[in-house]
Amino acid sequence: MNRPCPFSMHSLQFEGNAVEQAQCLLRTVRIGGNVGSDPAALPQILLNLVGKSVDITRDQLQSYLSHMGIAANDVGGALDASVSKTPHGAKTRYFVIHDTSDELPGHSFPADINQATWRSNNLAVRSKNSAHIFINRLGQSATGHNYSVSWRATKRERSAALKGLFLHHELTQPRIKGSYRYNAVAPTPGFTAATMERLALCYVAASLRSGTWMIPAFHCALDLGISDGHDDPQNFDLFQWGGAIEGPQRDPKATCRGRGRGAGRSRRHSTRNGSCRSLGRQANDQGQADQRNKSPVLQRRSLPSTRTAPREPTTPTIARRHSI
Ligand SMILES: [Zn+2]
Repeated sequence: MNRPCPFSMHSLQFEGNAVEQAQCLLRTVRIGGNVGSDPAALPQILLNLVGKSVDITRDQLQSYLSHMGIAANDVGGALDASVSKTPHGAKTRYFVIHDTSDELPGHSFPADINQATWRSNNLAVRSKNSAHIFINRLGQSATGHNYSVSWRATKRERSAALKGLFLHHELTQPRIKGSYRYNAVAPTPGFTAATMERLALCYVAASLRSGTWMIPAFHCALDLGISDGHDDPQNFDLFQWGGAIEGPQRDPKATCRGRGRGAGRSRRHSTRNGSCRSLGRQANDQGQADQRNKSPVLQRRSLPSTRTAPREPTTPTIARRHSI
């Protein structure tokens, strides 16, 4: 329980290959910041992509963003810009996932936490200084710092040599106390499909700019072994996110529309200029299509949607929200 992922200050990486690092850094974060010992079960698409070169083109992703009406500035900045680097020139490598842990009074969640009426979903009033990207429960996002900016958001990055190695993503999530001494309890499921889809798009954009599919990491797992750590994100469903990463990559129409004559028609592979294809060609090339029918994403049942707090007290080992 709570075994840290060993980190080398020499190589500026965690131990193991890219997939093994993700399996350590994405272990389920339980209440109180308790992280199990077993490596995380990763969705097939992450097993296929993490650590590999990205062969999606900037034009393809820009076309997709345009089709979806999403500004690049809302997903980390212009796609042709650089990504952050450490003071010694190591390029950003880790895609860090946080939750905002918005503390609410009472013992149940408001009925509108997934709607615009819930104040925490208003990105305009939220301070956006603490991370690169903020995503609300409606799937809207705002960039606090361009992915090109080296920004610290965890205790591990207190070493100046690491600043720039991590890109940070805050997902809006309410917390209530339930039967705990502090606001330990998150809703189940932890995040909406819209949030997951936008986070997936950020993952594609950040990886494209980096040139390599980044290694995702949960904040809590990242800081294990460092005192006074955080407990986020809670109730993050990796397989739901995996499905969201697959989504834009298997939608060929999105990257074809708006290009020359015939725009709007569904063309699965090539256009006259040969640039129209799904974002997922790489994943498909690597066997993703063969996996789809047996993918846990498609077979997974929805988690129960409960808005009441569990009543079983456990002893938190890690305090939840403190300064970084
Ligand atoms: Zn965090």
